[in-house]
Amino acid sequence: MKKDKIELSKIFIDKKKESFTVADIWELQRLLSYHNDLYYNKEEPIISDYEYDILRDKLEYIESKHNFMSSHNFSNDIWSYKVESTFEKVKHSRPMISLGNTYNEEDLYDFDKRVKKNLHWESLQRKDFYGSEYYLLEKFESSNDGRYVLEFKFDGLGVELIYKNWELVQAITRGNWVEWEDVTQNVMQIANIPKKIAYKKHLEVRGEVVLPLSSFEAMNERAKKEWTKIFSNPRNAASGSLRMKDNSITKQRNLKFFPFDLANFDEYSDEINNKKYFEVINSLYDLGFERVDYFKKMNGISDIIHEIHNFWDVKKQIDFEIDGLVMKVNDISLWQAIGFTEHHPRYAIAYKFPAEILTTQINSVEHQVWKTGTITPVANLEPIIIGWVTVRRATLHNYEEVENLWVHIWDTVFIKRAWEVIPKIISVVQEGRSENAEEINPPKYCPSCETDVIKDGEKVRFYCPNSVDCPAQKSEKLVFAVGKQWFNIDGFWVKQVELFLELWIIHNLVDIFKVWDKVEEILELEGFKQKSVDNLISWVEKAKNVDISMFITALAIHWVGKKTAKTLAKLFHSKESLLEFPYTSEDLIKLDDIWPEIAINVYEYFNNEAHIRILTELSEILNITYYKKLEIIADGNESIYFWKKMCITWSFIWTDWVKIARDDLVKKLEAVWWEFTWSVSKNTDFLLAGEKAGSKKEKAEKLWVEVIDLVFFMNHI
Ligand SMILES: [Zn+2]
Repeated sequence: MKKDKIELSKIFIDKKKESFTVADIWELQRLLSYHNDLYYNKEEPIISDYEYDILRDKLEYIESKHNFMSSHNFSNDIWSYKVESTFEKVKHSRPMISLGNTYNEEDLYDFDKRVKKNLHWESLQRKDFYGSEYYLLEKFESSNDGRYVLEFKFDGLGVELIYKNWELVQAITRGNWVEWEDVTQNVMQIANIPKKIAYKKHLEVRGEVVLPLSSFEAMNERAKKEWTKIFSNPRNAASGSLRMKDNSITKQRNLKFFPFDLANFDEYSDEINNKKYFEVINSLYDLGFERVDYFKKMNGISDIIHEIHNFWDVKKQIDFEIDGLVMKVNDISLWQAIGFTEHHPRYAIAYKFPAEILTTQINSVEHQVWKTGTITPVANLEPIIIGWVTVRRATLHNYEEVENLWVHIWDTVFIKRAWEVIPKIISVVQEGRSENAEEINPPKYCPSCETDVIKDGEKVRFYCPNSVDCPAQKSEKLVFAVGKQWFNIDGFWVKQVELFLELWIIHNLVDIFKVWDKVEEILELEGFKQKSVDNLISWVEKAKNVDISMFITALAIHWVGKKTAKTLAKLFHSKESLLEFPYTSEDLIKLDDIWPEIAINVYEYFNNEAHIRILTELSEILNITYYKKLEIIADGNESIYFWKKMCITWSFIWTDWVKIARDDLVKKLEAVWWEFTWSVSKNTDFLLAGEKAGSKKEKAEKLWVEVIDLVFFMNHI
């Protein structure tokens, strides 16, 4: 059933508007009410919001083309789909009308033109009353203090809060145009909703309840482990959270409410004597509603489009989903004159961002071998365009994730691609599974070198143990090591590394540092000129100076990232200690943050003969700076200033037991691995402050830099 509906939806999505027939209207109406049921009642949609919008848009188009609107009013039935709920239903007088929306910037100019046209038309109709056929248009255009307001389009659940006699008395959700669900008890659990306000008269605040993205992710992580319902987007999760019978769960979900409308706008704006939308909403913040950081007055459409283009930086910092920006005419007194279409008000429009979540099908699964040998499943997808980028692959993270999501080859899945993040599979359309769906299992042999794959004890990791010769690992390791963060060899990119490995020009990291031996061979390759090879060599030369911690990170040992490498670096005070590795795994466990698994892994790495051979060669070619303070580690009194950046102020009190000048302090610290900075920045670890520390101290406190005094310093050095 679901599979058929998914296929039918795709057919309608691809079909041109012009080729729809009257018969299609019925089909499309049935299809949309089917999707509505899954979306609103069951909170488990099988198509994305974006695809739903396309279908709805097409239905609106063909209905109006065939004059269905005026004669039958079918659309209204669809839009005002009834939510089956055990919650009490409430009838309400003023319907909430959803906003028209567009994914197209050009439409915003058209919207602006229509606003002006309608204002002109209305003035013309009532010329005698207004005294001019341009009265309303002029009123709109002469305002330079925000003709429009730009605000978030929240991707949440529409809720209305009713206040009487200073108190919140009822909360209802938008079930459909005129009928609502009572969710008062649940809404009482939302912390950022004021339960009492400094306004005595009747007030009906409308807004959106959203679920923070961090809560959404945590919820789904738990659901995967407990095999309960995985939500395909934060809005469905918010809706589910708000409709929980057990409202203590609603409380835990950390929902938030943001206001952007009033049911009794006219009454309230008269009361506060302000007819500007911007000021009315701001007055709600004064009543205790949480302020939205983004709320702007704008004058022209080109300014608004400029805002949209620069909006990405804002969006990535927000912990809840917004799917666009809404522009509204700021002057409320003009709204009635601008009017409504059958479905939407004409004084506001939503510009929707390109969709980030879409559905597609998994066509096959590859098992990718990473630099540390870990093998993970990567899904090859039926290509889809998400936010201007064609997505063909998505990560499945690991085989436990496959099991938890219960995902198969040929399944329809929800994919999210946000910013530069790797596309991710959020959830699977269960029950919509095709008959030939295949299970996804970890491979028995490494897909690159055919070595037997090992399962890491109780851990979810599957890996290829052939860490030295496995071609896939080799290539991944080299690409990682020469990357910007580590050896930073410009000119060695994925393509070059792969090509050189394939042609046996290089075999491992050592060969990269001996690249001059291969200059002739490289020059014979297509696209390599003397100049580019010279550049490559000069980058390689520069990369030879390396400190021990970075060197260890660049080796790509499993579980050894930047931080662990910094800890391990303390073990290596000379070439001998690196090659002979005179430590047991018990010694390693004594270090900070080194867990038994890491210790065993590191121990095995440095005792592996093939690794020792490579390390020996590298230690000869490279100019490695080793750690200087081994004796401190040996007796367990490691200095806290190890590899820290410290700033020192000029003035110190001279005590009778110590006379210290800054130069002496600097000398004292030279014995330890540390760095002196002339000024305080966010990268400074400590400020050693004297009596008149002044502005440096202020700055340090502002930047959360630890300030220490001389006594503390002397006791810890
Ligand atoms: Zn392998």
